Amino acid sequence: MIQIKTAHEIELMRASGLVTAGAIRAVRAAVRPGVSTGELDAIAEDHIRSAGAVPNFLGYHGFTGTICASINDEVVHGIPSPDRTLAEGDNISIDCGAVLAGWHSDSAVTVTVGEASAGDAELLAVTEQSMWAGLAKAIAGGRLTDISHAVEESIVAHEHRYGIVDHYGGHGIGTEMHQDPHVLNYGRAGRGPKLVPGLVLAIEPMVTIGDPATAELDDGWTVVTKDGSRAAHFEHSVAITPEGPWVLTAEDGGVAGLAPFGVTARSQ
Ligand code: MG
Ligand code: MG
Repeated sequence: MIQIKTAHEIELMRASGLVTAGAIRAVRAAVRPGVSTGELDAIAEDHIRSAGAVPNFLGYHGFTGTICASINDEVVHGIPSPDRTLAEGDNISIDCGAVLAGWHSDSAVTVTVGEASAGDAELLAVTEQSMWAGLAKAIAGGRLTDISHAVEESIVAHEHRYGIVDHYGGHGIGTEMHQDPHVLNYGRAGRGPKLVPGLVLAIEPMVTIGDPATAELDDGWTVVTKDGSRAAHFEHSVAITPEGPWVLTAEDGGVAGLAPFGVTARSQ
């Protein structure tokens, strides 16, 4: 069932989104060679709890972290650990969420530790750009797969043939972290549920440099590329409002990210 939020509920979700945005900012600032993903996890948890919120990943189907920390060929769902340290040139995807006053938020970013190779820099840019292309279609009057199609079009527009991870995708979000509808990162436009004010979605492309086939590790969580190629993951939670998309987990509401698409985001 698709949950449609009132304007007031979306305000509450914005407050939750800003907590997640702050947690990701804090973790990102701590990324450096030698830091463990366990330390990054503690930074996120501290930030979320000091804001009066609760980490929504922690305990989710038994997950032991506040963040998912996925390195290099790990696509999503990496488990943070004090024994896993970052090295120069690693890519780390930080996925994080919070629940505040009963409302969930969910966001992810991939960053390179230190200097990025040209290939990694492009992978990250392509993935982030495809997320913004999808967010730009979070407009009342459209259909769900307009978003999926925009994400895919953005990725396939590049000369290098990037992989789009199958099956995994975005989702509705609200009083639960994962709600209907599922948002694929590919597909024909113009299908699926109508996009209406009050619909809130997490849009999250997962892109690989090589083949998009994935496997789950024996830990029951970590999703890796089968060919060992590197992956990237970006995510924002966005509300469809009468005034346009409101990117709840972006500190500026999505203004800067959506401007290149000619879309005016609500800023606050
Ligand atoms: Mg997420
Ligand atoms: Mg998500």
